[in-house]
Amino acid sequence: MIKYGFLGLGIMGNAMAANLIGADLDVTVWNRTKAKCMPLVEQGASLGASPGEVTTQCDITFAMVSDPAAATSLFFDTGGVLDGMGPGKAYIDVSTVDPATSQRIAEAVKAKGGRFLEAPVTGSKKPAEDGTLVFLCSGDESLFQDASPALAIMGKKSFFFNQTGQGAQMKLVVNMIMGTMMTAFGEGLALGDKTGLTATDILDVLAQGPIDNPMFRLKGPQMAQNNFATAFPLRHMQKDMRLALQMADEYGQPLFTAGAANNLYIKERLAGGADEDFSAVLKAIIR
Ligand code: NAP
Repeated sequence: MIKYGFLGLGIMGNAMAANLIGADLDVTVWNRTKAKCMPLVEQGASLGASPGEVTTQCDITFAMVSDPAAATSLFFDTGGVLDGMGPGKAYIDVSTVDPATSQRIAEAVKAKGGRFLEAPVTGSKKPAEDGTLVFLCSGDESLFQDASPALAIMGKKSFFFNQTGQGAQMKLVVNMIMGTMMTAFGEGLALGDKTGLTATDILDVLAQGPIDNPMFRLKGPQMAQNNFATAFPLRHMQKDMRLALQMADEYGQPLFTAGAANNLYIKERLAGGADEDFSAVLKAIIR
């Protein structure tokens, strides 16, 4: 039986690991804040002592942490994943990071004789709970095949792109579009409100037209009630906008609307909304 490790049990990692455990797989969990491991241990997971130890004990170890700094620290720090890496070991980082971070980790895994896959996800808290995420993978194709049963438990679809870094690039392109859509949506709700239109009417009209989409349908009614319960933390959305803008700079592609949207996320992050849902960017628009 394949032994799976799961490192990073935040909003996404907790739900993803729970689905692996619920499918009766052999799962060992670790999280920087140990208390978050306990509910999963009660559901049947083993408790890992460190990321390195989990990697040593498991065949395939997943990681789902905040950002490039967290992914780098988890992997390279003393007691980190690199310490447990070797032939026969496999590491799948599903965090959203920049392509350079992913490539650095990929090279270090390869140098120790292991296999690496980057597999950032689209889909938020609910799809993570429902096992309907979409994985954007690149790296070792044999690992993609070997991990497919686990990916199919956590997600509804997995893509494989040929070059390492392309999973991260795809994820940043998609989230840059999503972040910019959210600020345009927020500005529409704010302008409509000023003119005396109700949010309910605006949402009803949007739902019938060519720009109807699941994000407006899910977030719109919540935003209209000033409900910013966190599914995707605003600080992570701003991180993704920043990484997309950095990537655009490297490739010589101006991003006018994404640049403006990023400033709104920065504004709301600094105003205290970092841990609220990214839809709380509406507050920066109306403030
Ligand atoms: P989260 O709830 O903030 O969880 C972050 C996780 O990273 C926690 O387990 C945290 O540990 C860990 N962490 C942070 N810094 C660390 C470090 N230096 N060393 C070790 N662990 C560290 O975030 P999330 O929403 O689950 O998102 C995780 C990743 O998925 C992010 O890259 C995000 O952009 C991406 N993502 C999120 C969503 C979403 O809707 N939420 C959707 C798609 C992709 P502690 O518990 O100790 O703080």
